Amino acid sequence: MRPSLSSTILDFFFPPFCAGCKKIGSFLCQRCYDQLQFYTLPIRLSLPSQHFDHLIAAVEYTFPMRELLQQLKYDCVRNIADFLGEFLYNTTYFPLTDLIIPVPLHIQRLHQRGFNQAAEIAKALSRQTNISYLPILQKTLPSMPQAQKNNRLDRLQNLENHFALIPETQQFVRQKSILLIDDVSTTGTTLNECAKVLKAAGSREITCLVVAHGR
Ligand SMILES: [Zn+2]
Repeated sequence: MRPSLSSTILDFFFPPFCAGCKKIGSFLCQRCYDQLQFYTLPIRLSLPSQHFDHLIAAVEYTFPMRELLQQLKYDCVRNIADFLGEFLYNTTYFPLTDLIIPVPLHIQRLHQRGFNQAAEIAKALSRQTNISYLPILQKTLPSMPQAQKNNRLDRLQNLENHFALIPETQQFVRQKSILLIDDVSTTGTTLNECAKVLKAAGSREITCLVVAHGR
């Protein structure tokens, strides 16, 4: 892939460095890349009722992908999203779908962070595949901070009815196959709640694709 002018300029001032060992040159050096734990099969979860059809994760949420994803979230390095888009495309069984939709952030969080990391990865994948990018999910209620959630049941219930489609967009997803993108999955609750909204709007098939999955 030919780097864009803006990413070339960014590389000049902020050369990429390895999230694992800080070596300058790329976001993951070969030595750290070799430590990634790839998934070969779709992820199976024990959700009370599963609304998506498949969950595909590239790697386990461990060193050094955990470090790279944290860097993407907190250092606002959008070039990492391009790197991860390419990584997902090249390392996973990539389903051809009608639409690519990112898991949304609540507007409050979006303003704090300045961007939605899942949306940046989804956009990168859309550029790579020419599949339409359609950010039509919204998070209507903010999540409770992690520290206040006591147990698994709390975590599951915490997200119920927190997502919705942007009004008047139902027609765009009806009968469509959808690739739902997030950076990380753990319980799968967020993906499941998003899938529930999309299925209720008439989506035909939903495949969730995440960079990393961990418990
Ligand atoms: Zn390294």
